[in-house]
Amino acid sequence: MTTYLDHAATTPVRPEVADAYARALQVAGNPSSLHAAGRAARRVLEESRESIAADLGADPAEVILTAGGTEADNLAVQGIWRARAKEGRPGLVTSAVEHHAVLETAQHLAEHEGAETHELGVDVTGVVRTEELAELLAEQGERTGLVSVMWANNEVGTIQPIEQVASIAREHAVPVHSDAVQAVGQVPVDFAASGLDALSFSGHKLGAPIGIGALLARRGLGLVPVQHGGGQERSVRSGTLPHASFAALAAAVGAAVTDLAVEAQRRARLRDRLIAGVLEAVPDAELRGAPGAGRLPGNAHFTFSGADADALLFTLDAAGVCASSGSACQAGVQQPSHVLLAMGADDGAARSAVRLTLGWSSSEEDVEALLAALPEAVARARAAYRPRPSQQRAAVKEAS
Ligand code: PLP
Repeated sequence: MTTYLDHAATTPVRPEVADAYARALQVAGNPSSLHAAGRAARRVLEESRESIAADLGADPAEVILTAGGTEADNLAVQGIWRARAKEGRPGLVTSAVEHHAVLETAQHLAEHEGAETHELGVDVTGVVRTEELAELLAEQGERTGLVSVMWANNEVGTIQPIEQVASIAREHAVPVHSDAVQAVGQVPVDFAASGLDALSFSGHKLGAPIGIGALLARRGLGLVPVQHGGGQERSVRSGTLPHASFAALAAAVGAAVTDLAVEAQRRARLRDRLIAGVLEAVPDAELRGAPGAGRLPGNAHFTFSGADADALLFTLDAAGVCASSGSACQAGVQQPSHVLLAMGADDGAARSAVRLTLGWSSSEEDVEALLAALPEAVARARAAYRPRPSQQRAAVKEAS
């Protein structure tokens, strides 16, 4: 039997979502067609939009359908920044721990369109330095077109002071976007109350199928379209509207926000048991990220000094436990996590990271299976450890 501890990567489709999806798939029409079949599909789409808006404190007109979190992030960062850049505001502020969907988009705008980017630093637990944002905007607020800071981090689970970020930016009339892909369904999210101008989320982190998500965008927020075509979604996001996937998204958001407090407590209890068990089994393991309520209820993240994360994950996988390092893998080679480096970890620690994430279907058995497999996996990963050339050089330098 497989123990799945990688819910932050994607979480299984919930049964009630699969039912809603199957029902909506029976409605065969293009929501943009004017005939009866089209109108039936449109009804499914608009009811789903209303349900998502009600669950997340937004107006239905503020919900823009996307194919997921990456597209929503791209639409927000490119769309808002391009609109402001035209008004003489080329500044683009992110945090150093954003998902690549935001960081790479910002980098692209810097390289090709003259965006003046600034990455806010974080403290050792991964919390963004809001005083740095306040200082920066006091100096350059008039030249800044967008601030984009994630609601919660996908690697270490740290929750950001998002309302404070929004209120600092508002003082300088700078729009704020938040990537809430890991937050929606894990912590309470109310778009209107947050003070944000735009917020991204993704269905497959909530129990909907992969390939559907949304951007919440405040009414009146200028947004230059990224995707051109048939003019759907008020010409902001063209493309035939997948009403059945959107119905699945609405069902998943509904399921995740109903009883959120109870489920968050259940998940946090499991997480705390997992954390205590890991620290007991491997006393020198280092828990990264914020303590207690400062981290997502489903996130635990450790570094195991002197262990090779790839070998550790491979051994866990062989024992039936699916986990992740949480950071990007390029051409099959694990990259040191930019999040851990920004939090002050060294290259060696950043290569020995393991993220264990719980979700709606997680149970105590999952935690126990991990704890049973972990000691041997860590021992093997330590035996397999070979310092990378840069670490070897550093070690030689230290010794001499
Ligand atoms: N933002 C964050 C914080 C994420 O964790 C992810 C996915 O891992 C994304 C964006 C991208 O979302 P999607 O997989 O729906 O494109």
